Amino acid sequence: MKILITGGAGYIGSHVVKQLGEKGYDVLTIDNLSTGHKEAVLYGRLEVLDLSNKEKLKEVIKSFSPDAVMHFAASIEVAESVKNPLKYYRNNTANTLNLLEVLQEFGIDKFIFSSTAAVYGEPENVPVKETEPLNPINPYGKSKVFVEKILEDMSNAYGFRYVSLRYFNVAGADPQGRIGQSYKNATHLITRALKTAKGEYKKLYIFGTDYPTPDGTAIRDYIHIEDLANAHIVALEYLLNSGESSVFNCGYGHGYSVREVVEAAKKVTGIDFPVEETDRRPGDPAILVADNSKLVNNLNWKPKYDDIEYIIKTAWNWELNKKF
Ligand code: UDP
Repeated sequence: MKILITGGAGYIGSHVVKQLGEKGYDVLTIDNLSTGHKEAVLYGRLEVLDLSNKEKLKEVIKSFSPDAVMHFAASIEVAESVKNPLKYYRNNTANTLNLLEVLQEFGIDKFIFSSTAAVYGEPENVPVKETEPLNPINPYGKSKVFVEKILEDMSNAYGFRYVSLRYFNVAGADPQGRIGQSYKNATHLITRALKTAKGEYKKLYIFGTDYPTPDGTAIRDYIHIEDLANAHIVALEYLLNSGESSVFNCGYGHGYSVREVVEAAKKVTGIDFPVEETDRRPGDPAILVADNSKLVNNLNWKPKYDDIEYIIKTAWNWELNKKF
């Protein structure tokens, strides 16, 4: 079975490539390497290509002739999307449209889409179900909602089938330490905390201590990258077995506060790194936790690493030993 992966050299895509390779799928990665790393692609071939290059994209897709496509390539920084929205509408929305038009032309009708909890904005009901209204509060979230709407229309019009996976807070690394998160300016809490423990930053800032939560800091649902990658495999196999178009939240269904994550990071690393409390970061909701019952019940997803210390342990191992 041939699977095309865009963004397969990135953090999430590379873990999915690894799991597909381990399961014997024939994988082709397309990545422009703007933030990805060629060393992260552990299985199959890598084609260095930007999705804006529609003619080259056609050639590659025609010659590989995939059975299904998994689309990870995207820009992912919320703050950058506020400053430079057109970059997000180009990379995340327009380039996805290019890809979808090419798939339509060649009759490729199975598609897995990397979506995000940012599509919900500040949800009224937590844990969040997939039926919660889509009210994104930044261009990043909007750029993903636009694609979800396009996919819905394609599914209604052409018999095209897709699964959209809305990720909550993804963290951790390959338990064997071969791949993990590798961005130049990491902004995510766990990576920031570990880089502070390592001495790359002087201190870790806690953004906001006046949230309506038990300890005043924001709560998030942290999911291990391996479990998230496995959600893609079960979603793919669902589509390959004639499953209908659908949308699933990806999280564990419970969360940790920023203070709890910081304490866990200190425990795992054994380093009492400096922490300073400061103002809220604009646009951060108080609590974002997934209701994952649809993924668990409909796709029989069985998460294995629902343990914040294990998540941090694998990320710490990567941070200390990473090769790229
Ligand atoms: N956060 C923090 N300090 C940091 C980075 C993040 O206090 O250096 C907080 C952030 O305000 C949010 C939570 O940690 O409440 C998770 O943030 P992250 O950027 O990891 O993911 P997000 O939920 O924004 O996707």
